Amino acid sequence: MMKYNPTKDLLANKTILVTGAGDGIGRQAALSFAQHGATVILLGRTVKKLEKVYDEIVEAGDPQPAIIPLDLKGATKQHYTDMCRTIEDQFGRLDGLLHNAASLGVLSPLEHISENTWNEVLQVNVTSHFLMTQALLPVLKKAPNASVVFTASGVSTKGKAFWGPYAVSKFAIQGLMETIADEYENTSIRFNSLNPGPTKTKMRSKAYPGADLNELATPLNLMPSYLYLMGDESIEVTGQSLQAQDI
Ligand code: NAP
Repeated sequence: MMKYNPTKDLLANKTILVTGAGDGIGRQAALSFAQHGATVILLGRTVKKLEKVYDEIVEAGDPQPAIIPLDLKGATKQHYTDMCRTIEDQFGRLDGLLHNAASLGVLSPLEHISENTWNEVLQVNVTSHFLMTQALLPVLKKAPNASVVFTASGVSTKGKAFWGPYAVSKFAIQGLMETIADEYENTSIRFNSLNPGPTKTKMRSKAYPGADLNELATPLNLMPSYLYLMGDESIEVTGQSLQAQDI
């Protein structure tokens, strides 16, 4: 696990959007960013979960967050354009964007993957990331130093039987990150990917039903690398693929 001791005010005065902020790694990232001073925009599809995270942040006395209820499956370019306008009106700029939400889809031989499953996983895990990043560039450009973090996986660079559309989507995320990072080299926006590694969450238990998850890292264990990438100490880092559990 990364050894990094962030200061309490590492993210003070930053506004950071976290997708999939209601559960798992995204939930913990939202809480940790707020604990380090950020105003967090909680995006997800299950409003009750987002409200719970909202309440936890407020009860802890951290900066008041905002909620954007959105299912990435059905979201269109217009949703992201409207989101950009709302963020600009309310916060003036966006300092950080954590693309965390993802769909595992169905783990099965490609022979049996339906067109619906394929389209849904690619929509949630790739197309939404492209559309959201593109639409939010105007507010990211307004930040003195903006950080965009994509979420990779163990199957981002090496395909694996039965991980079909999920693996393909994570390869695509690597390509998206490397392409846009190259286009924005020497600008105020940096783009990196972070592979959390095996982590005790609902997605993991869905992928490995029956496996004992107690030996795995928890979302909290991963936070040093998430905080590092969102904070100004990583300003020079762009186009990189980091491993939360190996650095
Ligand atoms: P998780 O516990 O299943 O949480 C995923 C979050 O994303 C949930 O809050 C979920 O919302 C949200 N989400 C899913 N589909 C969505 C959609 N269509 N629209 C909006 N929000 C949606 O998963 P996790 O393990 O924390 O995974 C987080 C990230 O890490 C993912 O990108 C995953 O691929 C990656 N990852 C995880 C592991 C691991 O071992 N856990 C390993 C490698 C990579 P709901 O709460 O409403 O379902």
